[in-house]
Amino acid sequence: MVAKPFHCLLCDKSYANKTSLVTHERKFHNQNVIIPHQHILSIPLYSSYCHFHGLFIDTIQSRLGSHRSTEGKKKIQVHCEENLFYFIFREQETFTFQVSGYKYNCVFKGQAGAERIGKIFQCPNWWIKANKFGGETIVYYQQQDPITKNLIDKEVCFCWK
Ligand SMILES: [Zn+2]
Repeated sequence: MVAKPFHCLLCDKSYANKTSLVTHERKFHNQNVIIPHQHILSIPLYSSYCHFHGLFIDTIQSRLGSHRSTEGKKKIQVHCEENLFYFIFREQETFTFQVSGYKYNCVFKGQAGAERIGKIFQCPNWWIKANKFGGETIVYYQQQDPITKNLIDKEVCFCWK
C-alpha cells in the first residue's frame, strides 16, 4: 500500500505528495470558504481594526506618487494578524481560503469593488490623494482598452499567507 500522508482537510481524500493535493484542491475546492481551524481565530479587538484601517490607508496614500503617473500592478505589504484578516474579509463574496497553501484571498473588481473597500476601511476616497500643488493622484480602478475602447475593470486583491 502506498503511503498517502497529504490529507485534504475539506473531504476525505489523501495523496502521496503535496502537488497532487494542491491539484485536487484547485479542482474541487477552488472557491473554498471553510477554515478548518476557524475555532482558534479569536474576534479581534476594535482597536486592532482601527489600527489596521489606519495602517492600510497610510500605506496606500504614501505609495501614491505625486508627480508622475505609473502603470501596472502595484504591491503593498501591511502587517496583519490572521484573525483580523479573516474577520475583515470573511463576509465578502470573493473571500476564499486555500487550505494546503494556508492562504486567504479576497478580490475586489472595478468601481463597485473600490467602493466596497472604502466601506470596509471607512475611508470612501481611499484611492485619491490630494498633493500639495492642489492636484490629485488616483489609483485607477478602471482602464480603457487601447484597441477596443472597452472599459476594463481593474482588480484589487487582498492576500494573506
Ligand atoms: Zn478535498
